[in-house]
Amino acid sequence: MNFELTDEQRMLREMVREFSEKEIKPRAAEIDRTDEFPWDLWKRMAELGLLSMAVPPEYGGSGMDTVSWAIAQEEMARASVVVADIQLLSTLMQKMILQNGTEAQKTKYLPPLGAGEKIAIIAQTEPGAGSDVAGIQTTARPERGGYVLNGTKRFLTCAMLADLAIVVATVDKSRAHKGVTLFLVEKGTPGFSTGSKEHLMGVRGMATGEVVFDNCWVPEENLLGGEGEGFKRAMMSLDTGRIGIGCQAVGLAQAAMEEAVRYAKQRTAFGGPIANLQAVQFMLADMSVGIEAARLRLRHTAWLKDQGRAIIREAAEAKLLASDVAVKVTADALQIHGAYGYSTDFPIERMYREAKVYQIWEGTSEIQRLVIARQLLKEY
Ligand SMILES: Cc1cc2nc3c(=O)[nH]c(=O)nc-3n(C[C@H](O)[C@H](O)[C@H](O)COP(=O)(O)OP(=O)(O)OC[C@H]3O[C@@H](n4cnc5c(N)ncnc54)[C@H](O)[C@@H]3O)c2cc1C
Repeated sequence: MNFELTDEQRMLREMVREFSEKEIKPRAAEIDRTDEFPWDLWKRMAELGLLSMAVPPEYGGSGMDTVSWAIAQEEMARASVVVADIQLLSTLMQKMILQNGTEAQKTKYLPPLGAGEKIAIIAQTEPGAGSDVAGIQTTARPERGGYVLNGTKRFLTCAMLADLAIVVATVDKSRAHKGVTLFLVEKGTPGFSTGSKEHLMGVRGMATGEVVFDNCWVPEENLLGGEGEGFKRAMMSLDTGRIGIGCQAVGLAQAAMEEAVRYAKQRTAFGGPIANLQAVQFMLADMSVGIEAARLRLRHTAWLKDQGRAIIREAAEAKLLASDVAVKVTADALQIHGAYGYSTDFPIERMYREAKVYQIWEGTSEIQRLVIARQLLKEY
């Protein structure tokens, strides 16, 4: 076993760490407070090549491996999970087009997405269907050499800013998951509009919201993958997404632990720093154990992905573990801060609010357990 990073991976980590410490971290509280998309940091990510990591050189990117991406995700999330997540969304959308698109679609969309000139979103969740993808109500009716889309999508990251949406719709509700199909819909297409913005507890600043399709006609060439193949293709993309999301949870937990250690050393009670109290030390020790375990599971899963191996169970386990670690670590870090942790004077209250979403998005913790159990029952 070789646990060393390559020279390129180390260099990338140093570059992203410096960018995160100097440029992202000082902005995290303000992004949360104003709930405004950080356009300047988006542009900086594009300049640094961080928005085209997944795009192969022939389409203008660097085509980096999954381990490199995992490292970058963790480093950015240590400074701001919001900035990390807009990078994740951009990467996942590029991968979906790369893996499922025609040559014409790749040539058209990948260069501007990698350059940060356009923002793509995934429009899957609906007011009445999240985990149950086969239960979606957005329809795609074949008509005039294309499809007419009708339906509403909610809770979409970057919805309000979308130049391009990968839309999950059904061509036939009676076929359940076999009717699910993916479509590319561009901003400006008649019948495609944005709805309300979501008011969220955390991860604010990502323009999360609603989009509406009202008799929105798209030509047949906007199909992404074949008709009825959307479920399988969306599920495949989730595996990679779970690695990135897990890494964000680890980065967030790492940041919270560092805050807790710093605070415990400087806060005094009963004649000495609270870091001398065993109750506090035990919380810190448990944080480190959880973070290291989750990080190792994630890195290994990313490495397996780079070897071309299936990672269905591994990615679900890594995401589940990392999410639970983030929730526990941020809660304990807040506890160590006492009343200061509950105030906006310190970043811990924001981290605590942000951590919760990791047990919900990219598949809830219950769904991860379902995936893991199903795989186990097949494997043994
Ligand atoms: C900040 C944010 C950003 C998001 N961004 C996007 C995005 O960009 N694009 C997008 O399409 N979606 C996005 N989502 C939606 C997200 O993917 C869904 O919230 C998630 O899939 C869960 O769906 P749901 O909220 O409808 O919950 P539901 O599916 O209604 O689940 C409700 C509860 O029931 C449980 N449950 C459901 N089914 C089962 C089962 N079979 N067994 C056991 N328990 C079950 C769930 O675990 C959960 O606890 C985002 C959500 C948030 C909060």
